[in-house]
Amino acid sequence: QPEHSEITTCAYCGVGCAFKAEMRGEEVVRMIPWKDGKANHGHSCIKGRFAYGYAHHGDRVLNPMIRESIDQPWRVVSWDQAIGFAARRFGEIQARYGRNSVGGITSSRCTNEECYLVQKLVRSGFGNNNVDTCARVCHSPTGYGLHQAFGTSAGTQDFDSVDDADVILIIGCNPTDAHPVFASRMKKRLREGARLIVIDPRRIDLVRSPHVKADYHLALKPGANVAVVNAVAHVIVREGLVDEAYVRARCDWEEFQDWAAFVAEERNSPEATERYTGVPAADLRAAARLYATGGNGAIYYGLGVTEHSQGSTTVMAIANLAMATGNLGRRGVGVNPLRGQNNVQGSCDMGSFPHELPGYQHISGDPTRTAFEADWGVKLDKDPGLRIPNMFDAAIEGVFKGLYVQGEDILQSDPDTKHVSAALAAMDLVVVQDLFLVETANYAHVFLPGATFLEKDGTFTNAERRIQRVRKVMSPKNGFGDWEITQLLANAMGLRWSYAHPSEIMDEIARLTPRFAGVSYAVLDKEGSVQWPCNEEHPHGEPIMHIDGFARGKGKFVITQYVPSDERAGPRFPLLLTTGRILSQYNVGAQTRRTENSRWHEEDVLEIHPHDAEDRGLKDGDWVRVQSRAGETSLRAKITSRMAPGVVYTTFHHPTTQANVITTDNSDWATNCPEYKVTAVQVSLSNGP
Ligand code: SF4
Repeated sequence: QPEHSEITTCAYCGVGCAFKAEMRGEEVVRMIPWKDGKANHGHSCIKGRFAYGYAHHGDRVLNPMIRESIDQPWRVVSWDQAIGFAARRFGEIQARYGRNSVGGITSSRCTNEECYLVQKLVRSGFGNNNVDTCARVCHSPTGYGLHQAFGTSAGTQDFDSVDDADVILIIGCNPTDAHPVFASRMKKRLREGARLIVIDPRRIDLVRSPHVKADYHLALKPGANVAVVNAVAHVIVREGLVDEAYVRARCDWEEFQDWAAFVAEERNSPEATERYTGVPAADLRAAARLYATGGNGAIYYGLGVTEHSQGSTTVMAIANLAMATGNLGRRGVGVNPLRGQNNVQGSCDMGSFPHELPGYQHISGDPTRTAFEADWGVKLDKDPGLRIPNMFDAAIEGVFKGLYVQGEDILQSDPDTKHVSAALAAMDLVVVQDLFLVETANYAHVFLPGATFLEKDGTFTNAERRIQRVRKVMSPKNGFGDWEITQLLANAMGLRWSYAHPSEIMDEIARLTPRFAGVSYAVLDKEGSVQWPCNEEHPHGEPIMHIDGFARGKGKFVITQYVPSDERAGPRFPLLLTTGRILSQYNVGAQTRRTENSRWHEEDVLEIHPHDAEDRGLKDGDWVRVQSRAGETSLRAKITSRMAPGVVYTTFHHPTTQANVITTDNSDWATNCPEYKVTAVQVSLSNGP
C-alpha cells in the first residue's frame, strides 16, 4: 500500500498529463493519471504511466565527476570540487579567449525555473547572450512564425477546444504516437463526426484506424509543405472562400491583398502543385473546400512542419490559412503546435533564446533590459548571442571554448553527428548536467548528476500554454534539484543567488515578465493550473488567444514562397528519409529505454515501401545500409505500404542506430532549426552493423 502521494506532471511530451505519484518510503510504486488534470482528464499513455522507472534505474550517475581531458577516466569528486572546477575553468577560458567564448543550453525537459536560472547564469554570470535551448532543434520555427503572424509564439487554443472542431487539419504530426492522450481526444471528436484532413508523407494511424478515417490524406513528398499549403490557399482565394469580414476587421488588409494575389498565381494552383509534390490536384481542391467551408477548422501541426529548411515559412503559411478563413479567436478553431517535449513552451517562454529575455522580450529593448539589470544587479549585453549551431561552428573555428549543457543529449539529438562531435572535442570545457552518462558526456570534462522530475519542485508549461506544478515526491538521489546545481555554479562564479525554493524563482519571473505577472505557486495550487497570459487582465489565465485582436495588433499575412529543399532525390541518393517517434519511446530514449517501455521497442527500423524494397532485393528484417552525403548507418528493414514509394522513415530512439549520423546540416532559413525531415539517402542490403 502507498504511504503518501503527490500530484505532479509527466516529464515526457507536450500534452502535460497530471499524475498522482504514489510512494512507499522513497520509492514510487505507482503513477495514476489524475482525474482532475486539465490536460488529460484522468488519461495517460504507456510512457507516462511507467515514467518513474528511470528515476530508480541503476544507470543513474549520483556523484559529480571531473576529468582534465576527455581521454582520461572520470574521477568521482565532491560537489564543491566539481562546481569549483567548472567555475574556475569557465573563468580561465573567458580570461584567455574573451567574454563570448562560453555559453549554455537549457533543456525542454527541465522546469521553467531551471531554464530561467540557466539563462540568468549565462547573461549575468558569463556576461553574454550565448544561451539557447533544445527547442532550437524542434519548435524554434513556431516561435518565429507565430510571432510574425500573430505577435505571440504560442498555440492559440486549449486542448478542450477540439471538442468544438468540425474540420481537423493535421500537418506534419503523428499524435497517436507522439501525443497519445490528445490523439484520443481528437479521435473522440472524429467519431462524433468531425472531418479530417491529414497532410503527411507517411500513412499515419489517423489516416485509417478503427472508427476513424481521414477524408483526405495529402501524401506529399518530404519538403513540400509550403507548396501544399499554398495550393490550399490558392483554392480558397480563387473560389471566393475567404472570410473577408474577418480579414478586414482583424488583419492588415493591404498585406492580405498582396498575399491573395501571390497565392492566386497559377504556379500555386493544385494542378501545378501536383507536378512536384505528388498530391493529386483533385484532393488538394477538395481538402481546401472542406477546411474553408466545413465549419470550425482547427489546425494541429508538429515537427513535420518545423524541422525543414522552410519550417518558419510553413508555420506562417498555416497562419495565413487560419486568418484567411477566420478560423481564430474562438473554440474549435486555431493554429496549434503540438510540442514534442514536456516543457518546450516553457523553455522558450523563459528566455532561452540568444535574442530574448524571458517572456519573448527582445534583449536590445532598453526599458526591458534595464528592468532586468535593476532586478539582477548586473549590466547586460544588448547584442544577441550565439544559437546552438553557431556555437558549434565557433567551436570548430577555435573561438568558442566552454559549454554548460543542462539535460540535453546534443550529440545524439542534433543533426550531423560528426560536426557536433568535432565541435565538442574542440572545446576546453564541456559541463554536462544529466541523469545518465549520455552520449554528449563522452566529450564532457565535468559531469553534474541531475535530478528527475520526481525529485524536485517546479513548473512545466505544456503545448496549450498551461503552467502546471511539478512536485517533489522523493528526495533527490543525487542530493540536489537541478535549480540548486545551477545556483551553486552561479555562486561559485561570483554571483550572489539565495533562492530557498523554486517558488521564489517563479515570483521573480512574474515580477519581470508581464504575461506571467499573475503566476505564483499559491495561484497554481489554488487553480490547479493556469494558461498564460496570466496577469491583471487575465487573472485566471486564458484558454483561447486572439479573441478580440492579435497581440501584434493586426494579423500579418506573409508571402510564403515555396523554395525546394537542397536535399533532393537523385541518382546517388534516390530516396528521401524522414524521421519521427513511436508510441512507447521518447526522443533519444535516454529515459524510456530505462523503464518498462523498453519491452515494446528494441531497435529503430527503416520503414520502406514494398516496391523500393523489391528494387533492392530486400526482405522484411534484412539489415540495410542507409547512406547520405553526411554519413551512414545500419538498420533492419521493415517493409510497409505505410510509406509512399521513394520515401523511407526511421525513429531516433536508440544510440546504436545514430539516425542523426545521416541527417544533414541543412536548416530553417530563419531559426537554424535542422532539417531532420528531409535527407536524400541510398538504401542497400548489408551484413549488419
Ligand atoms: Fe501524457 Fe505525453 Fe506523458 Fe503520455 S507522454 S502520459 S501523453 S504527457
